[in-house]
Amino acid sequence: MIGILGLQGDVIEHVAAFNRLGVKTKIVKHPPDLDGIKGLVLPGGESTTITKLLVSSGLTQPVDNKIRKGLPTWGTCAGVILLSSGGVLENVDIEVKRNAYGSQLDSFVANARIAKINKDITMVFIRAPKILSVGHGVDVLAELNGDVVAAQSKNILLTTFHPELTEDTSIMEYFMNLVNSAELAQDRTYTYTPGGIV
Ligand code: GLN
Repeated sequence: MIGILGLQGDVIEHVAAFNRLGVKTKIVKHPPDLDGIKGLVLPGGESTTITKLLVSSGLTQPVDNKIRKGLPTWGTCAGVILLSSGGVLENVDIEVKRNAYGSQLDSFVANARIAKINKDITMVFIRAPKILSVGHGVDVLAELNGDVVAAQSKNILLTTFHPELTEDTSIMEYFMNLVNSAELAQDRTYTYTPGGIV
């Protein structure tokens, strides 16, 4: 079950994209909604509005705690801003500039390769932020004209574009791999025997 932060923005589009893959979702609006989720999506929208709603709903601290404990989390567009240095969740060492490509009218679609997915991805940018710098432990997954448009820091995936607005579910699948590996790592129990760890 994947939690989709449902305070504002393109929540339903994420639900639909995961449903196309057969993945169950749960809309997260209040702290108890976080129970039982194996991953969390912070959708695009308006980062100032989502920030205010995170605070007023009491979700900031519980979400932050879950992310710090390793909950696989995927921020798209405004979600990237929330997770960046100076953002309300501030879980990733990146600096971003909001609305860096211009106004709504400057929204655009482009293609770029994501090596780890081994595929050209159609990327929809809507008043997207630019990732200006990435710090220690942050892997760049994709660049477009020299700008970082996808990155990963441990279990946190960042895309400044909107995969949920295209038919291609590769990024959702990539995120589900992160979710499944995190679950496996947690479930693995080791029994010590004199012969070693089995
Ligand atoms: N411009 C928005 C912000 O700064 C983000 C846009 C988006 O999520 N598509 O919050």
